[in-house]
Amino acid sequence: MGFSSLQELIERCESSGQKISEVMLAWQSEESGRSADVESMQMAEYYGVMKEAVRKGVTEDVRSRSGLTGGDAKRVSEHFKANEASSGEPAARAMAYALAVSEVNASMGRIVATPTAGSCGIIPGVFVSAQERFGWSDEKMVEGLFCAGAIGYVIANNSFISGAEGGCQAEVGSAIAMAAGAMVELRGGTPEQSVHAAGLALKNTLGLICDPVAGLVEIPCIIRNGLGAVNALAASDMALAGVKSPIPSDEVVQVMLDIGTAMPEGHRETAKGGLATTPTGKRLMESLYGKGRAKKLDRKRE
Ligand code: SF4
Repeated sequence: MGFSSLQELIERCESSGQKISEVMLAWQSEESGRSADVESMQMAEYYGVMKEAVRKGVTEDVRSRSGLTGGDAKRVSEHFKANEASSGEPAARAMAYALAVSEVNASMGRIVATPTAGSCGIIPGVFVSAQERFGWSDEKMVEGLFCAGAIGYVIANNSFISGAEGGCQAEVGSAIAMAAGAMVELRGGTPEQSVHAAGLALKNTLGLICDPVAGLVEIPCIIRNGLGAVNALAASDMALAGVKSPIPSDEVVQVMLDIGTAMPEGHRETAKGGLATTPTGKRLMESLYGKGRAKKLDRKRE
């Protein structure tokens, strides 16, 4: 049986004595008609793709097709190895890995949409760096992905997960919430703490607009993924320490829906507002498409 809210998810866990990941795996298996083993194998394959994207992004010279972005994951990775990172090594590593996967996405490489391509770096950034740090098995990481999936499932069914619908709060915000909740479960926290982590994280991205320069998932998307991974770690730590979201997480999801619905069209992936329409954003668009074509694209968006 499915669940329609985060509160219902907690109750399901408490009444069955299961973790969020177990409830999600059972539900996904019931919905798809495939066995839990097959579902887990599929998820393990996705995790393999995430790890490969991290590896590629931090070790190879990854440039986007447009030439606007690339190389930041490597820069951050080399920096924290040679210097003490201000945010601390675990956060810097998660940030570098999240940047890596987002850069691979911008180079048209293989990634897993978590929950979308625009926010594909956050969960791998948090997961792969945590696995290295704590020595967790792939099986454990796969379980964590089901926990993240459960949180994303509720958000998608009650609000948005795409920037075109609800702004960047819906993409990057949802990914941070999913990663934060999963990290709590991976560290041995309760389902209630996982849900608080998701709510704490989501609150911090409410109102975030979607304003990709030249309509490409690069600027500011890649950097938002790097910073998002750090926020996810912070939210999971707060929840594990006992910090609660005073506004229930389901209500935060509802607020995200309200804000996204009221958000002007120019702030929902149209590249007609925000950073996309700064003088530099416009200049970058012209440098890619030429003045005439950029103007035409601009008119099309109107
Ligand atoms: S700015 Fe828009 S395209 Fe970029 S990550 Fe956010 S929602 Fe996705």
